[in-house]
Amino acid sequence: MPTIGDIVERLEQFAPTALAEDWDNVGLLVGDISWPARRVMTCLTVTPTTVHEALQRKADLIVTHHPLPFRALKSITTETTAGKLLLNLIAAQIGVYSPHTAFDSAPTGINQHLAIGLGLREIVALVRAPGSTEPDVGAGRMGILAEEYSLQEMARRVKNFLGIDSLHIVGDDQLQISRVAIACGSGGSFLPAAIAEECDCLVTGETNLHTCLEAEARSLGLILTGHFASERFALLSLAEYLSEQVSGLETWTSTTESDPLRAV
Ligand SMILES: [Zn+2]
Repeated sequence: MPTIGDIVERLEQFAPTALAEDWDNVGLLVGDISWPARRVMTCLTVTPTTVHEALQRKADLIVTHHPLPFRALKSITTETTAGKLLLNLIAAQIGVYSPHTAFDSAPTGINQHLAIGLGLREIVALVRAPGSTEPDVGAGRMGILAEEYSLQEMARRVKNFLGIDSLHIVGDDQLQISRVAIACGSGGSFLPAAIAEECDCLVTGETNLHTCLEAEARSLGLILTGHFASERFALLSLAEYLSEQVSGLETWTSTTESDPLRAV
């Protein structure tokens, strides 16, 4: 029977934790590598909804994109949401693993998926990993479109790839886009890199008003898909990868989690 340790090993191959950002908290966060793991659920975030599903469907391990715990905890009590969730998971002997920014940056990680899905060519890291000589190892991605699109057309293509009905853009509809930067999640901090690399647009999940205004001032288009949509799709292929890699493993992607933001 597979153990949590077997799955951790495959995840480490898929998204080496050395690729994670310094501020991040990745790897096995709850559990014991010797615990049996026959049933693995992937999800974007550990929430009351996904914990409920993991308990109902008797998961042995949750592979969550976003870490829980993320910050150092001084107590684990029912006083906090994180404490409640952790107590429930530990009582049921369900482990938690998070690859987070290692998954963003992995050679077949989320940003690479986005770059390929959006039709980019000559894909390289937007911010190369320190000390790496490999152009495609690092955070974010950038590449060139086979043909130029307007910002409006590019936004349509992003919606189509992610299967979403709406998104936000910054910039003129007719802005011509050839060189594209990509940073899943909350990627506003990649704007200076996108400008320095002379990209025409940055596709990210979400950012703040001031980053939007800076993009506008620099005539760089922004496509904001929503944080959830920019990352959630990749948890489906991660579940498939694990079931292919570890024999005797049953995997699925949470069917109950959804974007907490709704357009009304
Ligand atoms: Zn995220």
